[in-house]
Amino acid sequence: MPSHAHAALIIVGHGSTLNPDSSAPTHLHADSIRQSRQFREVACCFWKEEPSMREVYESIDSEVIYIVPNFISEGYFCQQVLPRELRLTGPITHRDGKTIHYCDPVGIHPNMTRLLLQRADEVAPSVPRSETSLIIVGHGTNLNENSTKAIQDQVKLIHEGGYGFAEVIDTYMEEAPFVADWHKLTTAPNVVVVPFFIADGLHSFQDIPVLLGMEKETGKALSQMDVFRHNPIEMQGRHVYYSSAIGTERLMADVILDQVRDFDLKHAVDFDSADSSDSVQAKALANWLAEGRNVIGQVHIVESGVSVPSAPSYILRHIEDVATEAITLKTFHEPASAREISRVDEAGEFRPIKTAPTLKRGWQLELGSLTELQLALEFFYPAAIGMAYAQEIGTLNPVPLRDLLGRQTGMYRFANGINDEQASELIGKCCANATKCLRRIVFPLDATQSLSGTATSKIGDEAGHDAGQSNSIPLLCMEACNHIVSAARKVARENFESK
Ligand code: SF4
Repeated sequence: MPSHAHAALIIVGHGSTLNPDSSAPTHLHADSIRQSRQFREVACCFWKEEPSMREVYESIDSEVIYIVPNFISEGYFCQQVLPRELRLTGPITHRDGKTIHYCDPVGIHPNMTRLLLQRADEVAPSVPRSETSLIIVGHGTNLNENSTKAIQDQVKLIHEGGYGFAEVIDTYMEEAPFVADWHKLTTAPNVVVVPFFIADGLHSFQDIPVLLGMEKETGKALSQMDVFRHNPIEMQGRHVYYSSAIGTERLMADVILDQVRDFDLKHAVDFDSADSSDSVQAKALANWLAEGRNVIGQVHIVESGVSVPSAPSYILRHIEDVATEAITLKTFHEPASAREISRVDEAGEFRPIKTAPTLKRGWQLELGSLTELQLALEFFYPAAIGMAYAQEIGTLNPVPLRDLLGRQTGMYRFANGINDEQASELIGKCCANATKCLRRIVFPLDATQSLSGTATSKIGDEAGHDAGQSNSIPLLCMEACNHIVSAARKVARENFESK
């Protein structure tokens, strides 16, 4: 693939407010592509986690952007939700001086076949394919025919490719042929089951094992399980080999790049207008630090000022650990460690809102460059640097709460049925600084009204700082998050039912 050193790559995942494993593969594929330096910038965004699809644009400097959905099929999300949230008008969108290329989702790329074969061989090494039934499991839903097409295409490709399996079949959780009938649908003595999902979430490690008969009831999420599954499992007189979700396969990063390459070929993308200048956000961050603005959320940043090549340039700690003896802190050296540090709170509970005031203590992160610092802060507080910079130069475009609630579809389509008073009360309660979220809200209620009532406690000064905190880098909220949409839906429903 030609270098895209002028462009940004955004990988879009579903994410989850409950399951910490859901976004992990998307982040890992982004890490891998970032390390290959094929793009000027690499970022992730999520439907259910931070940064949101609106926020992620603020963290991107590049004028050319490629968006690859890390989704299995071309269904509802890729055809409706993502284009709406990312404000796309088609495969190529020109907006705000940027050119945005919307690629196909990874799951429909023909090279997924290679991954499926590799995963099957890994999970059942030295088991002859001629004595093996390969089952590819999807979710399935009668609502959208595309949700099964990607899997049916793979079954056809493997079947016609002559890869030597005794049989290859597609099965689903929620429509026929049902995965629960696996023993009736297959005949070989060995059965390899590969979940065709992006991540090891509720389905691949909780629901499907129950449907297969491996477990009696749904268990904990993968990250909370003590013992990984042991293959093979003897069931119905067969050897069953169960794999983790196909999306966790390391080579998925290559499929993401394959989708970019295919997009370039299909749309004859021209590389001539390439801009590969330095990141303006990194420069802004350096300026803020030089001005003494060295706190963001619960993270304190120290420029070491040491010019020894092997010494760290920046040292990050929890703000309450600034005076703690370094020897008592656990020291990390990679930007990606910030993602792990901020993943769970002191009690080990998942932190879906990264700006919740629950960042755990006891760590020190030593980084070697401004680029590493910028990336680590991106993991601690997704898109925060970009939003603070956009606010500073006057380009931040906050989304009024009514616009957000009004554009919801599916089960959230009634969320805008709350009245103004309820909206402000909900923000005051769900966003409370002390217990819920450290961000300062910069979005209004609608085009003509600001938030009022208890919600005003969430509004900072003009730059988004808390009172007396002008030495910090502000954490801004330009658009209400998923938690507010869910809460609004609940209140709207109660309004409807009480009529
Ligand atoms: S809507 Fe509230 S809880 Fe959600 S990110 Fe914004 S300030 Fe935080």
